[in-house]
Amino acid sequence: MKSLFIAGNWKCNKTMVEARDWLAAFKHQGNLPVNAILVLCVPYTLLNVLKAELPVALGAQNVSPFPDGAYTGEVSAKMIKELADWVIIGHSERRKYFGETDEVLKEKVMRAKEVGLKIIYCVSDEKTVIPHDVDIVAYEPVWAIGTGKTDTPENANHVIEMIKKQWRVTTIIYGGSVTAENVASFMREPSIDGVLPGGASLNPETFFQLIIHASS
Ligand code: PEP
Repeated sequence: MKSLFIAGNWKCNKTMVEARDWLAAFKHQGNLPVNAILVLCVPYTLLNVLKAELPVALGAQNVSPFPDGAYTGEVSAKMIKELADWVIIGHSERRKYFGETDEVLKEKVMRAKEVGLKIIYCVSDEKTVIPHDVDIVAYEPVWAIGTGKTDTPENANHVIEMIKKQWRVTTIIYGGSVTAENVASFMREPSIDGVLPGGASLNPETFFQLIIHASS
């Protein structure tokens, strides 16, 4: 059986009340597959709410490029590590809306690595710079994120193969409008090691179904 990696990304969604409701419903869905590494990446405010009871690993969606100190409004890698094992770095929404450059992202990777956070690093194509030492790369074509339009599984596999060769990364997942209905078509491709669903992780039933379809 192929091993797989699934990272849900809630983006900027859910209050604490909504997160607790999601958790209660998700825990009632049934047994999770043993051949999958499952991560849920949530806003900082929800990490402590989910930490104790979430049956999958927890991740943040961002990290400060600075250590602790006089950086008002930032959340450092050390703070995140108390609550989560994973962090997303380089998501296209952060690059687009917050002007995050390759240089800043490299600093974020270094801060995350210093404290032992595992990194999901997002790129939009094979040309995007990938810093050393990231754990998982997510290939996410910008036009496919949140649009309902996916890359074709064949092209996603092709781009992922190019990234693996060029950047010497071993594990690469696909993200961009993945659903419970289309996930199997991506998982059938030999070089795709998993998926990063955003919208489809917001509903506990949908997210569970996506995990089941990906792993069967
Ligand atoms: C994402 O959050 O990176 C993403 C791919 O979102 P969606 O699945 O909603 O397209």
